[in-house]
Amino acid sequence: MVQQRYTIEDGQIRWKWGGESPILHLEAAELWEECINQLKNVQLSNKSDTWLWKQRDCREAFKVSCLRAELDGICTIPETQVLRWLHWIPRKINCFLWRAVLDRIPTRDALALRNIYIPSTLCVLCNTHNESMDHLLISCQYSHLVWTVISLWVKIPLPRYLISIVGLLEHIDTHSASKEKKKAVYLIIAATCWTLWRIRNNVIFNGKATQISRAISDIKALSYLWIKARAGFVDLEWKEWVEFKYFK
Ligand SMILES: [Zn+2]
Repeated sequence: MVQQRYTIEDGQIRWKWGGESPILHLEAAELWEECINQLKNVQLSNKSDTWLWKQRDCREAFKVSCLRAELDGICTIPETQVLRWLHWIPRKINCFLWRAVLDRIPTRDALALRNIYIPSTLCVLCNTHNESMDHLLISCQYSHLVWTVISLWVKIPLPRYLISIVGLLEHIDTHSASKEKKKAVYLIIAATCWTLWRIRNNVIFNGKATQISRAISDIKALSYLWIKARAGFVDLEWKEWVEFKYFK
């Protein structure tokens, strides 16, 4: 801290290198001199040092959230506006959602578009449509049934025309609910997308299909684990979670 490197004697600033030992290294001496030169035009006071964040014309204590807001403001990809980095869900899942929104998930359609040979581009859950990211996670017959049950669970109706993951996140964003409830719903959306992706992988790599009822119970269990262990709702009972009455 700068504060520890000077004393004021007779109104004059006296710089001091830390401790009693002198600077032995030439490079360190040069850096020390350069540092003092840079501080020449700084008005020093007796207050504690703080990090300041010069954001446009205002100066305030640095917060990561300020930087985040600034970056969001200059973001040129509108799709990512609906994303939030939620610490209630694992980092891997935050990344998965981010990649899904940007259409960077290696679905069959995405692989074919990148000239990677695959025997079929059909969705393995319905075998009727190309497996794009939005099809797999949203508009596939299988996924749509899953979302219908989830929307009944969280008591938020699905939009009439739901064709994309971005559309779903926008719908939740504009829904009137408390901040906490919105976060809980976002967590459930993340758990649902992740479960659908794993169900798809289980068909492709293990040849195993998953019943809708099993998918729903997996989503409820996974989201309960996250909300208890990561969001800190340690008192939340399983019964309260499956009834989704805890959040207003
Ligand atoms: Zn499908």
